[in-house]
Amino acid sequence: MSDQQTDRWTEGWLAGIQRGSRERRTGEADRAFWQAGPCRAWCTTIHQDGDRPEDRYHYSNNLSVTLRTEDMRESDPTEIRIHLMQHERERDARLHLGEGEMRGFHLTLNEAESLMENIAQVIKMAANDTSDNQLHAA
Ligand SMILES: [Zn+2]
Repeated sequence: MSDQQTDRWTEGWLAGIQRGSRERRTGEADRAFWQAGPCRAWCTTIHQDGDRPEDRYHYSNNLSVTLRTEDMRESDPTEIRIHLMQHERERDARLHLGEGEMRGFHLTLNEAESLMENIAQVIKMAANDTSDNQLHAA
């Protein structure tokens, strides 16, 4: 009789039970096996062995700005959301800016910095505008 080998899935499941959770991870230091190192400091994602390769992203929490002059989106006010993301195989983090996960833009940190500078510039232009912006009656 040969010893019964425990497969990776079962190993992860047992590790999860020991942690008191349903998370399955069998990598070093309680990480998913596919993680080459620890999560990014800003990552709030719970990774598991079974995450598909295309889903192996580190994500930060969302920051959002409610847009008071835009139409509602279904039953919620429109919000711009930003978060950091980095695939396990990517060298650098990118910033996602959009309404949700699917719509929006992915910016490198340099692009995000340029955008931020441009926004600051137009805000400054508006703040420094001393012209009378009221329409004059004839
Ligand atoms: Zn992570």
